[in-house]
Amino acid sequence: MLQVTIDGRIHRFPADMPLLHALQQAGSPVPQLCHDDRLKPYGGCRMCLVEVAGEARPVAACAAGLRDGMQIRTDSPALQDLRHTQLSLLAARYPGQALAQQPELPFHRLLAEHGLAAAAEGGPPLPIHTAFRDDGHPYLAVDMDRCIHCQRCVRICDEVQGQFVWQVHQRGERSQVLPRDGRSLLGSGCTACGACADTCPTGAIHDKRSTTAERWTRSTCVYCGVGCQLEVGSRAGRVVAVRPADSPVNRGHLCVKGRYAFEFNHSPERIGRPMLREGGHWREAGWDEALDYVADRLGRIVVRHGPDSVGVLGSARATNEENYLAQKFARLVLGTNNVDCCARVCHTPSAKALKTMLGTGAATNAFDDIEQARTLLLCGANPTESHPVLGARIKQAVRNGARLIVVDPRRTELADHATVHLALRPGCNVAVFNAMAACIVEEGLVDAGFLAERVTGFAAYREFIRAYRPEAVAQACGLTAEAIRKAARLYAGAGPAMCMHGLGMTEHVQGTDGVMTLINLALLTGNLGKPGSGINPLRGQNNVQGAAHMGCDPVTLPGGQSFEEAAERVERVWGAALPGQRGLDLPGMLDRAAEGQFMALWCIGYDIHQSLANANRTGQALQQLELVIVQDLFLNETAKAFGHVFFPAASVFERDGTFMNADRRVQRIRRAVDPPGEARPDWWIIQELAARMGHPDGFRFDGPQAVWDEVRQVWPAGAGLGYDRLERESINWPCPDEAHPGTPVLHRDRFAMGQRAELACIDFTPTPERCDADYPLLLNTGRTLYHFNAGTMTYRTANAALSPCDMLDMAPADAAALGLADGELAMVRSRYGSAVLPIRLSERIKPGELFTSFHCADLWVNRLTSPLRDGQVHAPEYKVTAVRVERPEG
Ligand code: SF4
Repeated sequence: MLQVTIDGRIHRFPADMPLLHALQQAGSPVPQLCHDDRLKPYGGCRMCLVEVAGEARPVAACAAGLRDGMQIRTDSPALQDLRHTQLSLLAARYPGQALAQQPELPFHRLLAEHGLAAAAEGGPPLPIHTAFRDDGHPYLAVDMDRCIHCQRCVRICDEVQGQFVWQVHQRGERSQVLPRDGRSLLGSGCTACGACADTCPTGAIHDKRSTTAERWTRSTCVYCGVGCQLEVGSRAGRVVAVRPADSPVNRGHLCVKGRYAFEFNHSPERIGRPMLREGGHWREAGWDEALDYVADRLGRIVVRHGPDSVGVLGSARATNEENYLAQKFARLVLGTNNVDCCARVCHTPSAKALKTMLGTGAATNAFDDIEQARTLLLCGANPTESHPVLGARIKQAVRNGARLIVVDPRRTELADHATVHLALRPGCNVAVFNAMAACIVEEGLVDAGFLAERVTGFAAYREFIRAYRPEAVAQACGLTAEAIRKAARLYAGAGPAMCMHGLGMTEHVQGTDGVMTLINLALLTGNLGKPGSGINPLRGQNNVQGAAHMGCDPVTLPGGQSFEEAAERVERVWGAALPGQRGLDLPGMLDRAAEGQFMALWCIGYDIHQSLANANRTGQALQQLELVIVQDLFLNETAKAFGHVFFPAASVFERDGTFMNADRRVQRIRRAVDPPGEARPDWWIIQELAARMGHPDGFRFDGPQAVWDEVRQVWPAGAGLGYDRLERESINWPCPDEAHPGTPVLHRDRFAMGQRAELACIDFTPTPERCDADYPLLLNTGRTLYHFNAGTMTYRTANAALSPCDMLDMAPADAAALGLADGELAMVRSRYGSAVLPIRLSERIKPGELFTSFHCADLWVNRLTSPLRDGQVHAPEYKVTAVRVERPEG
């Protein structure tokens, strides 16, 4: 601790505390205009000047550190004069009406505190201010009359988002802060993260659609698996604003979805009453009628066809507590292990590979390790679009010296920043990572010490991997051997090396195999069990990790535990036996439905018709069901076409509970507003139905906290994660007791299943989905920055103005060969279906390949994707579909 005297009083502070924070803590805060804790010290506004004994001149507190014995004065008459003069100069150039309109803004408050008025409206024009205005963006408005040149917008766009949209044009008196192209935000590469508006102290850049909140409620973002922490602003029962909160995950930053895409919550299309379909038409019903109807029909089906004729789907939209209750309902009330969730179609292959090889089916390291890695290996993931806050952190890590290897068929934004970009042919992951492993073994780049202490099977693996020398496989993968070797040398040579992967790894017939080849690389090079390393699946949805981890999986019990590990404990806590028969996963349920062997499905927050691959076959299967219960915010595509009952659910802003993010953090969501009409939280609906089906016992929780306390009983590694701790902390499990600090890095000294992990000899078997003369192009699918999954939420926000629909990205050479132009509609046909999509010419995609997203129900890209599935866990192969493109008829 350091001893420091501030304004005559002695204080003690930790050595690493910034001086500004120390002044705040000591009760002697100084004003600041150019400072933001998220940014590097700048020292530009001179408002935070303090006098330090021994220094000839005042020093800027934002840029100075603490020293033992320091003597500081913050409020001398000279300092007050300096600040007053600085502010007077700014005030003289400032539009007066702005102060009156928004007195709460930081700069306006400061002027008021110093008794200063701004220049009168209509006063003489002053030279350093530009009249630049931009009202063309759906979320951000710009009025540079208010710019005081603190450059916080410029710096936050550079230092946090890495987008370089705001720039200082010209110099001295003529300098102006303008978007990059000098004309508009939309034309300057803005990704609408809102960080500039968040940091601007004057409102020169401000949010257009947010209004002043009466109340702020801390919660977790509803969108991707990064799990950013935020504050939800509400007023008169409506969500009116969202702002970022500080947390280890997002460090005070959000993306366009987290910050702005909240208006869906009050869409007139929200369903506020239960509904029953009669004679092909929906009619509203009360909860009693709807629940009794479902209890009766489900009960009859179970009696008639047996418990394995019905199933339940949890989802990322539901909390941990709700997913726990959903699987408990399936197992205890219905008597079946037919329970699954949306993890099936994304990262079940990751969980399977990690559990099989390392003993824990989850990310090995925390996101905070990104800044500790010297090399980042990014495989089949496009985080600047799909996990934007993480993407921004990766970009900054590379700017700060980390090396980046990108393995992706497309030249993604991060590929522009990579030392090596392996633009492999889609579907070749296993071959490429085997080739990298072969290079590492052949060139002696293995970590011999780690192999000796922590790994088995090296002798057999060394023999096996010889067949995959880069020279043997590169051409078939669309790469050069030298590029593969360069990537391998970098990964093995510049450690610690952290691997992050996305759905480009898992949504293949060899999805699980692909992740296992990544784990092999980490085992060979010792990149496990230490900060800045590991194998880290980037989970796509807010609580997809939690949904599966809570037991919405036919072969896994809560806590990601196998039946062997946990059945006895679960049965003891539940006071009932688990069903003995193996359950069906979602693809298995639909297969049985298509055969007429499966009768009823309850979909909680999951639009399977639009989001599953091969939509035509999904539809044929759903058509066979006697009872489809859909529980959601909106009448989604599954409900519209096949639903018999609709239960209206409360949204993320309208309930309490926890989510689990991609790096194993359990984080609170909190109710900020009431649900519309009679919509109810999922946990309430599940409990009510259980009671009506004769199982009130085990479903009498008075709220999410009580449910969570039961989860902690059946999941020993989560026992220490009580709500009281989650109120103030964000903890990575395992956390077995209340005193445990959590575990950001797994497998430090041993793996979850033992001291050593075994290398896996994984042969590459190409997908049967091939191009031929009829289907000569390969279609790859993924996400975009502005939309999320089935689009039910984001298309009901102004994100639809930023990205109106899915686009078909095509290389200019392919478009020219087909006689198609940018923006034209094209008919895309696969062996399974067709869709009409607008073309976007893109240099980021190779000739012969296509890319599109799948968010837009009108275009329904999943009519094209194939029925092929991962060999081990049945995740669909969304990433490789042979298609042809034609000009649409008519
Ligand atoms: Fe939400 Fe993900 Fe964006 Fe964070 S990065 S604000 S979690 S969508």
